Amino acid sequence: MNLKIYNTLSKEKELFKPLDQKSIKMYVCGPTVYNFAHIGNARPAVVFDMLYRLLKNIYPEVIYVRNITDVDDKINEAARKLNKPISFITKKYTDIYHQDMTSLGVLRPNHEPRVTDNIDQIISMIQRILDNKKAYINDSHVLFDVTSFDEYGKLSNRDKDEMLSGARVEVADYKKYAGDFVLWKPSNKDEPGWNSPWGYGRPGWHIECSSMVETYLGEEIDIHGGGQDLIFPHHENEIAQSCSAHNSKSYARYWVHNGYLNMEGEKMSKSLGNIITVKELLEEYDGEVIRLALLSTHYRKPINFGKSLLEQSKNILNKLYKKLNSESDEALVSEDILIPLLDDLNTPLAISNLSKIKCSKTLKKSANFLGLLNRTSEEWFALNNKSTMSENDIELLIKQRDEARKLKNFAKADEIRDQLDNNHVVLEDVDGKTIWRVKK
Ligand SMILES: [Zn+2]
Repeated sequence: MNLKIYNTLSKEKELFKPLDQKSIKMYVCGPTVYNFAHIGNARPAVVFDMLYRLLKNIYPEVIYVRNITDVDDKINEAARKLNKPISFITKKYTDIYHQDMTSLGVLRPNHEPRVTDNIDQIISMIQRILDNKKAYINDSHVLFDVTSFDEYGKLSNRDKDEMLSGARVEVADYKKYAGDFVLWKPSNKDEPGWNSPWGYGRPGWHIECSSMVETYLGEEIDIHGGGQDLIFPHHENEIAQSCSAHNSKSYARYWVHNGYLNMEGEKMSKSLGNIITVKELLEEYDGEVIRLALLSTHYRKPINFGKSLLEQSKNILNKLYKKLNSESDEALVSEDILIPLLDDLNTPLAISNLSKIKCSKTLKKSANFLGLLNRTSEEWFALNNKSTMSENDIELLIKQRDEARKLKNFAKADEIRDQLDNNHVVLEDVDGKTIWRVKK
């Protein structure tokens, strides 16, 4: 089986050629744990979970590492407000993150290193970058010297000289050039910090990922993933740090980035307002619905996330669960699912192909591979068919359906009928008027 994947570094879809056929090394930037996970934070977790499942199906071993940022100015601020140590905040939100991701069918990576457990390794890496004359010390800070790294800007397609000369932003006076970034910074006595050769302080954000890749995977890895928003400066800086510490040319062979998640303009729910955290969404929708919604757009495209996407996803799952009547043990994952996934992780096509599978066993096995249809049909309908709609919501949707029909937008009208049907509301058109009742 040949996997093709888009590489941000070459700007092309490439045939995936691992460093070692026996063991794949993948690293993805993880969460900063100081608050509830936003649905946007769930997208990379679900996308790279899908890639992880696919790689595990092809290769004998996949080592997947996703870090946890547990020291950060936002965490410090949250802890200060509560007058608690940062570990109080980070433990709480790490646990919540894990619960949320489990609900979305996200498998745990093989390693989830925390920054606070890796300070010695980070200090060692900074020291090597300094020894290789790619960084300098100024005013208790250690800064990476961007001019020392020729390849800087290659991943994000930026011109290094332009970046250095064109900077109009006010430059901190401890920096030689605007583009230089912090490897280590001083902490006040009341801030979290560690003793280092450069004084009491804490690491800058970018260095943790370079250090953890080195510690848990080695100097060069196959795949490095994250959201598109991390390409610059975070991933650009990671490449500069790692190559400078190792005197090497290559850090990650394939850079894979997921697109943005936009919240749909409309309010998602009258009762809840604009739902944005995974926890709140899970109160209204099953984790499988949210997972399907996240995978229904190709990972590199922006997602328009909102109520209509969630309702469509719930509808698809209802239809699939209706076809399910057996266990999956002896079945194989359908080629109609694998082939699109092998082509740059085409999950929208894989999902639409699910509905074409006739054999219930193959359907179950194939959907499980996508992290879906994990329940029995009975469980699903028992859990997911309580009507939670208020009379006002129902009346409003009926009005929208009437308007759609007047405009001959029958697709929209059917979509609304399905949405109501999902909530156990049945419509009957009598004498040009629509009446409704709740199914028993
Ligand atoms: Zn990172």
